[in-house]
This record gives sequence, C-alpha cells and structure tokens, in this order.
Amino acid sequence: MSADKKAYQERLDRIAEILGDVVANAEISSLLRCPYRDQNDLCTALFRCRNQLTVDGDSEALACGHSGEFDYRTAWESHPRARERVKRKIAGIKREAEERRRGEASEETPS
Ligand code: SF4
Repeated sequence: MSADKKAYQERLDRIAEILGDVVANAEISSLLRCPYRDQNDLCTALFRCRNQLTVDGDSEALACGHSGEFDYRTAWESHPRARERVKRKIAGIKREAEERRRGEASEETPS
C-alpha cells in the first residue's frame, strides 16, 4: 500500500471512529431527551403525555416535566384515538345525564 493510500485509510478509520462515538452518544441521549422537547423545555408533541405540565400564564403552552433520568416513552399516550373516543363517550353520558336531570326537575316542579 502506498503512503497516500495508507494515510487516506487512516483518516477514514479515524472518521469512522469519531462518527461511531457520535452515534453511540446520540443513541444514549435519545433515550433520555425526548425529541419533542424544544430548547426552551416546552413540549411540542401533538399527543398526550404524562410528563406535560401547564405553564403559568399561558393556556396553550405545555412544559416538559421529564427529569431525564428514565425512558420518557412510557409516558406517551399509545392510543390517542381511543382517548378521543372515550372523551366523546363521556361527553355523551354527561349530556344524557343533564337532560335526564332537567326532565326530572320539570316533572317535580308544581305548575
Ligand atoms: S412532555 Fe412528554 S412528549 Fe412532551 S417533551 Fe416531555 S417527554 Fe416528550
């Protein structure tokens, strides 16, 4: 192997070693830092997560309450559509109960 090829191969090996370390660190970090957490520690996820915290004075913003010490992914709502279905069902049950109460109240009221 010529000196140029040997130097070239050594550089390639060095780059592969550096990138290997970067990938290994990214893999570890990806388990502790949620990709939905922005640089201001606000949550940008469009789904429900148990780590979301309300922000004082801002009705829209959600802060990330994850401590970074465990895998955050178990807090994610795994069936967001099921959650919406349950919310609709609960709203329907509440509506029916209110209608029933109103009906009972008008029957009890003497005219
Ligand atoms: S609140 Fe949950 S989804 Fe949002 S950034 Fe934190 S861990 Fe991620």
